[in-house]
Amino acid sequence: MTATAETICQLHQIHKRLAEKKEKLSAGPHRVKAFATRLSDTEKKKADAQENATEMRMLIDSKQLQLKSSENKNADLKNKLNTCSNNREYQAILEQIAADKMASSVLEDEILEAMDKVEQLQQVVVAVGSEVIHATQLLDEAKKTVANEQTVLKEDIAQLESELADAEAFLPDEIRANYDRIVRTRFDDSMAAVEGDVCIGCYQQITPNMLNQLMLKEVVVCTACGRLLYLSEL
Ligand SMILES: [Zn+2]
Repeated sequence: MTATAETICQLHQIHKRLAEKKEKLSAGPHRVKAFATRLSDTEKKKADAQENATEMRMLIDSKQLQLKSSENKNADLKNKLNTCSNNREYQAILEQIAADKMASSVLEDEILEAMDKVEQLQQVVVAVGSEVIHATQLLDEAKKTVANEQTVLKEDIAQLESELADAEAFLPDEIRANYDRIVRTRFDDSMAAVEGDVCIGCYQQITPNMLNQLMLKEVVVCTACGRLLYLSEL
């Protein structure tokens, strides 16, 4: 039971490894979440492209209807030409037919343009569709990898916690209470090595008296930061 300072050093190493494993354990679900977000973003992109394509198709339908009705109107006007009573009326109808033809030609161009757009959007839908498949695969892989890692990490943590309990058993009662209190909130940051006469936790100098105590392998608490100290060469 003389090796108290060594125990503090050993406890610090175990706490550091535990903290590292616990951090990895908690990072796992964040990684999965990032891939899930990527998938849902891609799915949204696909849905948007599909919606745009649908809207464009509806626009084409409505323009085609317009074109059809304009063609019907044109046919009516042509019939009217035969029933004209005077030249003026005849000319007016001819002008109307010409104007309608122009409007129809514009409509036809617009329809062709919209069809091109639909084709482009369809290509986007296909491309984003592949992205969705890829993102789904990545998410599945991340889930599997993280699940495997978590199993190993949980085993490592259990092992370290058992090592920790074994090492803590070496702490004398008067140190144990202080140790328990600080470790509850500061975890691996509860202890610090002393290099030369400097606490590595807070980089403050310790007193020669404290250094002597450390050399006698007694447990010393840093007066500046409250960490339990041990000599780094231990
Ligand atoms: Zn300190």
